Amino acid sequence: MASEPDKFSSKQQLSQERVQYDVIFESIGDGMAVMDIDENVTMVNRQAELLLDYKKADVLGKKWSSVVPLVDGEGNKIPVSRRPSLIALQHRTRVTTTAYQYTRSDGSFFPVHITASPVIVGEKLTGAVVIFQDITKQKEIDKAKTEFVSLASHQLRTPLSAIAWHTELLKKKIKDRLNPEELKYLDEIYQSNRHMINLVNALLNVSRIELGKLGINPQLIDLTTIVKSLLEELTPQIQEKHLTVKENYQQPLPKINVDEGLMRIILQNLLSNAIKYSYHNAIVEVKIQPDQKEKGESIIISVSDEGIGIPAEQKQQIFNKLFRADNAVNEAPDGNGLGLYITKAIVEESGGSIWFESEEKRGTTFYVRFPTKGMKPRAGAKSLLDMRRVNRYNKDTEMP
Ligand code: ADP
Repeated sequence: MASEPDKFSSKQQLSQERVQYDVIFESIGDGMAVMDIDENVTMVNRQAELLLDYKKADVLGKKWSSVVPLVDGEGNKIPVSRRPSLIALQHRTRVTTTAYQYTRSDGSFFPVHITASPVIVGEKLTGAVVIFQDITKQKEIDKAKTEFVSLASHQLRTPLSAIAWHTELLKKKIKDRLNPEELKYLDEIYQSNRHMINLVNALLNVSRIELGKLGINPQLIDLTTIVKSLLEELTPQIQEKHLTVKENYQQPLPKINVDEGLMRIILQNLLSNAIKYSYHNAIVEVKIQPDQKEKGESIIISVSDEGIGIPAEQKQQIFNKLFRADNAVNEAPDGNGLGLYITKAIVEESGGSIWFESEEKRGTTFYVRFPTKGMKPRAGAKSLLDMRRVNRYNKDTEMP
């Protein structure tokens, strides 16, 4: 049994440790809020008070979501169920995001990097910790970089178009005087130029999306007409690989409110990838069906292929900007890793969702879901540019 002085010293040690933890908590340079399983705040540090312009007493014991509203880049309130702290508590998973802004006590916003983690003691969930930083400066730097990419891409378009025009003219004028080898060189110039135009257009699209300039103008459209016209454009690639394309549409397929240009880009990316990464003699299938799980309140468009698939360890990165899986680089060296990033941004900004299933060397299916009421309209000055026009060089190829 511990003697009286021993008891005293261990108590003293505990309280010293407690003081030390409190001092560390208060000294952390990031904002920090600790909450219980009902999202009621139990602790906030000094930096959180400074960033949010609150006093501890205003926050403690209250729900984090009710005191500190979370808004998107345009100031629209994020529903409680989508808040990182709620996701961390409900799914026992860590959530990191830079997509939102916190609201200060005076109602003003600041962009924030949030990491919300569940606190699990043994097996038991006891609450969550939210750590946050003001990222106004980083966002400004990102914006300046994006504006630079936009400007540079724009400047590149004019000389690239001129090269395309003149290559075409050259071919028309001196075609009869060139031998097959020289014609092949000309074709190489044309195709490399085409590749650069596609890349520059994709970069411009990325900057338009990231600068929030994208407009979404939904109109009632029959999706099958878009799919059919894209499949026609892609016929040379389909034939080259001897692919069979199956189309499977809900009958009758109701028209849906979508922005035609944006829908074309989504489907163009998914279809051209399915073809590009397919094995020869394989089947590519396009389906448009109501989502049974959602009682037909949304539709799912899926594009399946029997191709190289996506390696399991790289699936997480597939929607990242400029990411290309190792097997894809070997199969199609001229990709740029921007198509899926752009596709995901369009789908999510217009109120849809996108995901995929894939097995390496077996095939891949991409799914896009939209509510049957269609895309969410948004005012914006810019539309997106075509990134993947038919890459073959022939006398009918249209100039950019
Ligand atoms: P790109 O095709 O130009 O490389 P994307 O952004 O369209 O760029 O796709 C990113 C990456 O995702 C591809 O490089 C590839 O690794 C993978 N990917 C996309 N679609 C498929 C598919 N249908 N089958 C296998 N891999 C795919």
